[in-house]
Amino acid sequence: MADKKIPYKIYLEESEMPRSWYNVRADMKNKPAPLLNPDTLQPMTAEDLSGVFCEELVQQELDETNAYLPIPEEIRDFYKMYRPSPLVRAYCLEEKLQTPAKIYYKFEGNNTSGSHKLNSAIAQAYYAKKQGLKGVTTETGAGQWGTALSMACSYFDLDCKVFMVKVSYEQKPFRREVMRTYGASVTPSPSETTAVGRKILAAHPGTSGSLGCAISEAVETAANTPGYRYVLGSVLNQVLLHQTVIGLETKAALDKYNIKPDIIIGCAGGGSNLGGLISPFVGEKLRGEADYRIIAVEPASCPSLTRGVYAYDFCDTGMVCPLAKMYTLGSGFIPAANHAGGLRYHGMSPVLSQLYHDGLMEAISVPQTSVFEAAEQFARVEGILPAPESSHAIRVAIDEAMKCKETGEEKTIVFGLTGTGYFDMVAYEKFHDGKMEDYVPTDEELATYRAMLPKVE
Ligand SMILES: *Cc1c(COP(=O)(O)O)cnc(C)c1O
Repeated sequence: MADKKIPYKIYLEESEMPRSWYNVRADMKNKPAPLLNPDTLQPMTAEDLSGVFCEELVQQELDETNAYLPIPEEIRDFYKMYRPSPLVRAYCLEEKLQTPAKIYYKFEGNNTSGSHKLNSAIAQAYYAKKQGLKGVTTETGAGQWGTALSMACSYFDLDCKVFMVKVSYEQKPFRREVMRTYGASVTPSPSETTAVGRKILAAHPGTSGSLGCAISEAVETAANTPGYRYVLGSVLNQVLLHQTVIGLETKAALDKYNIKPDIIIGCAGGGSNLGGLISPFVGEKLRGEADYRIIAVEPASCPSLTRGVYAYDFCDTGMVCPLAKMYTLGSGFIPAANHAGGLRYHGMSPVLSQLYHDGLMEAISVPQTSVFEAAEQFARVEGILPAPESSHAIRVAIDEAMKCKETGEEKTIVFGLTGTGYFDMVAYEKFHDGKMEDYVPTDEELATYRAMLPKVE
């Protein structure tokens, strides 16, 4: 069944690594809506943004015209330690499923942080260093972003303060120790170290925390500490931009063998890996050069695209960050504590939100037990232990491959395998012990948070 002329792994040469990031906004007819200043509700200017972010990153955040932004050599040098990442033909999975579909995955787990997040962490740390900053603050949920950023900061000799969502801090002590190995300080959030943390703790004693809340604490700390800026691992335009190395490499690898994907699938938390994977392909769609089916996969317990609204909302629980127009569940939304699969953010990247709104991309939500079933099925034949987040994409890739089995179609499916799951064994254990539940928020619950959206427009 398998067409063995294509190797199991398509590697690119170091010299074939992208020299520029691709800025899909340059090709979008409908641009994503601007971020709004939370005080004035006017679009954030470069000056407003530079209080929070590094200057060059502000330029990238606002750039809607340049399609290609050169990757500085210092960043490419770091990329060379773990890139180009392989595009793998999932021959073993195809065989196991007995599907005529051809399945490929772009594997981003081949670095110590265990995920794609290092692609943006190193860029953000580089610009912070270049600007002469002392350090950066950030939030981390499952811990991958915090780990990636602590690696990047130690490389450029920057201080790194991480606010880690309390439930993860407690469930993933080893993640925390990896960050400390790279020199970062890690504080469980909400904490008593910030005004917003104390406020949230007073209002919700015993809360297990959320990403939105950790963001508020990190932003406050950056604002109050001279020489520090806040950096974010997803959602923002600049992060999607850095992550386009994933899509550019994927496209280069496919082009080597003249492979045209029919379906491109990625998991979506804040949207950075998916945005990075699909951008070059969406660019072709926008320019009328090619067509692809693109599918975003999100957890049924945190369904921002499939059940959220497209509206301006706060990016954080403490409402100190700019407002973004995005598909959102409301910044007060916190996924159920038994949700173990990551992708817990209440909103979605404004770029992806606009693309989804314009019908350039589909979205599907999947319950977490079905995600872990797919993870296990994949691990048993392909060897890699996938991160729960990545396994959302595996779930839908398998589902699409099984549809091909019914219809006999030989579709080519490409999905993003964003990382490994070594630190997610508590979640895997729950699944194996039959203790994992599929929590799906009710319409009433979602309506409560939607009613709290800021009134803009
Ligand atoms: C953070 C993370 C995600 C989700 O974040 P996006 O910004 O939506 O890409 C997915 N997979 C892994 C392994 C992650 O660490």
